[in-house]
Amino acid sequence: MITLPVVVILLTAGFYSHTPGPCRDPLTYRIGSVDDMFWMTRQEFAREVAKAAAIWENAAGYKLFKEDPGGALEINLVYDHRQAASDRLKGIGDRIDNTKGSYEALRAHFEQLDLEYRQQHAVLVADVDTYNARVRDLKAANDAASRGGGVSPEVYRQLTAEKEALDAMFEDIKARQEELRKKAETLQSMVVVINEIATSLNLEVVRYNETGKELGEEFSEGVYERKNGHQSVNIYHFSDRTRLVRVLAHELGHALGLKHNDNPKSLMYRLNLAENVGLSPEDIADLKALCGRER
Ligand SMILES: [Zn+2]
Repeated sequence: MITLPVVVILLTAGFYSHTPGPCRDPLTYRIGSVDDMFWMTRQEFAREVAKAAAIWENAAGYKLFKEDPGGALEINLVYDHRQAASDRLKGIGDRIDNTKGSYEALRAHFEQLDLEYRQQHAVLVADVDTYNARVRDLKAANDAASRGGGVSPEVYRQLTAEKEALDAMFEDIKARQEELRKKAETLQSMVVVINEIATSLNLEVVRYNETGKELGEEFSEGVYERKNGHQSVNIYHFSDRTRLVRVLAHELGHALGLKHNDNPKSLMYRLNLAENVGLSPEDIADLKALCGRER
């Protein structure tokens, strides 16, 4: 099984804030949209959310969250370029995990594919120029023939042959364009994942430019937002159920009012680094500080 890299849990400043008495009444939530691309039913997703909620509730000793069709917090599973990039790369045979070795191998593969892409692109651009020039010449010859009131059988044969050659060239150019488009898509996916591994390993490397407009933001598994009185958790990416529960628990922690702490094993660490779903002593201390030891 391919282990996908650990990724950043994005927290944009101002997205969460401490609400007075966040633990007094359970925070109500509802399952919003669950994209079909994840091959997960709403019920399955709801079960994972409940597991994530239980992690905090077990530590608190009382109910902190409650699923409710009119719940204040909407939780969505959103398929976007992050999951798409990881899914696409499953097909190219690279071992992708959260190691320096995997990073170096993927980078080497990227450099090689990128070089191929640039070379093929340059050849294609030259061929398109040649094609356009030959089309202009053929049109000029046709126009001249029309003005002259006809052509000899020999010239007619030449013009027809050139037209057929150009039609074949056009099909070939179209096919190569499509091939290059797919290669560019793979390259963009690789850039997303390479940058993501670099971030998770805190590698001091130059990030590749993500050329696609839709790839401009930093990779993140999930985000909690509070905007205009509306609260939501969007989950964008996960590699397995354990990591899904971890990112859900992290975002639910923000929804309660918890901030990041500095233990890399924490659920509330800024990066999703650990492999377990337990709380660290820091997570528990912060929860107690927020909610009080007793209600
Ligand atoms: Zn966070």
